[in-house]
Amino acid sequence: MSRETLIDLLYLFSATTFVLALKGLGSPKHARKGNMLAAFGMLVAIVSTFFKYVDGHKLYHVPLMLLGMFIGLIVAVPVARFVKMTAMPQLVAIFNGVGGGAASLVSITEFVHIKSTHPATYVTLEVLLGVLIGTVSFSGSAIAFAKLQELMTGRPITYPGQQVINGIVGLASVVIIVTILVTASEPLLWVLLALAFVLGVIFVLPIGGADVPVLISLLNAFTGLAVAASGFTLGSNLLIVAGTLVGASGILLTRLMSKAMGRSLANVLFSAFGSNVTASGATDRADGRSVRSGTPEDIAILLGFASRVVFVPGYGLAVSQGQHVLRELAEVLEEKGIEVYYGIHPVAGRMPGHMNVLLAEANVPYEQLVEMDEANSELQTADVCLVVGANDTVNPAATDDKTSPIYGMPIIHADLAENVVFLKRSMRPGFAGIENELLYNPKTTLVFGDAKDTLTKMVAAVKAN
Ligand code: NDP
Repeated sequence: MSRETLIDLLYLFSATTFVLALKGLGSPKHARKGNMLAAFGMLVAIVSTFFKYVDGHKLYHVPLMLLGMFIGLIVAVPVARFVKMTAMPQLVAIFNGVGGGAASLVSITEFVHIKSTHPATYVTLEVLLGVLIGTVSFSGSAIAFAKLQELMTGRPITYPGQQVINGIVGLASVVIIVTILVTASEPLLWVLLALAFVLGVIFVLPIGGADVPVLISLLNAFTGLAVAASGFTLGSNLLIVAGTLVGASGILLTRLMSKAMGRSLANVLFSAFGSNVTASGATDRADGRSVRSGTPEDIAILLGFASRVVFVPGYGLAVSQGQHVLRELAEVLEEKGIEVYYGIHPVAGRMPGHMNVLLAEANVPYEQLVEMDEANSELQTADVCLVVGANDTVNPAATDDKTSPIYGMPIIHADLAENVVFLKRSMRPGFAGIENELLYNPKTTLVFGDAKDTLTKMVAAVKAN
């Protein structure tokens, strides 16, 4: 077997691991294995590439490549290990951005190489698409990172004629691409690069901080497409397969997230959602209406009489880092013979799979995690629904109020349970900035305070009862 055939077979093996890894990532139970499998496939691909002959020559600049990999390794490993769970979206944004930037650099290098070795040659479309898409992904992800990291305002930045200006810059990029294809002009490449950079920035500016995770998923798809374009440029089947997988899964995830938020992708990208909500939230007070509040000890007694309890975790659980105590509460309840489930809404938290990752970190058994539809059927016979730092994902306005911005978003029907308990710090709304009628429902009790503190007190009280 020739060296080339062996390397192609190893690439095929890597591509297969990527497909299987995606399947593994589809369930919390297999996600860790899926991730490891993809990492192993990537390792095989990288090592194989070092043994490749390009046009009959060994690879050039191997020490430089190894140095680049080493620098990447010493930066990325500690960052990935020590990042806080709530900072995960910005980590994904920055990793995604450098991926897009790298794909763009590959295309630029290839362009310059073609022009310096064969000046009369025309450049092909995929090289220019690699520059455009990769650079948009790079600069867009950088702005997404800055918004999430609060290096700039997370609110939508809007100005008159914004969409028209964005449209003009997008159109100008297409015109430049066509001109380069016809004239093979090298200076225009740099114009395209600048336009793509600006496009990435102005495309992301009007998107509100909390919509940014959906945007990151879309930019992730862009990076995938840019990598696939680099694959065509370099004649690498593996890059084409890997880039297409990332592109396709990014687009699917973007669609799923928009659907789970009950909004169209166009609404997420172009509506500047969140620009009309005041920073402290629309309702800091109960507006004269009364809510019933209770103490952790009251709730411990209520839980003690229950036979089935459904926990509905949300963004506030991640903020309070109360996931370990929540698992402990589940354990003490189970010891008393009470059935416990965790109802997981697909967009609870601030990134896809946020609750799954959070609860997996606390070693919550997978069997106790139920998806939204199953949670809704469990809730019909539940005695208590304990809503821990969730709000929009249990807001009945999504089904009852046609004027609500979240109307149409599928929710977990916490109100189906006999009793509803909210753990939150105030009457402030969640991400969507809208009031939740369920807080005023006679079957609802609010326990004000940081979720972790409240849960800790509840565990102690349940143990003592
Ligand atoms: P929400 O943002 O609706 O509500 C979070 C709640 O947590 C608030 O009511 C807040 O109230 C409370 N909270 C915050 N900190 C604490 C704390 N330390 N202790 C106790 N409570 C706390 O969260 P959900 O998870 O229900 O909904 C997610 C929202 O985010 C949805 O609107 C979704 O569309 C959106 N979104 C989700 C994405 C995803 O991929 N998952 C991506 C982008 C947006 P208080 O301040 O009073 O404590």
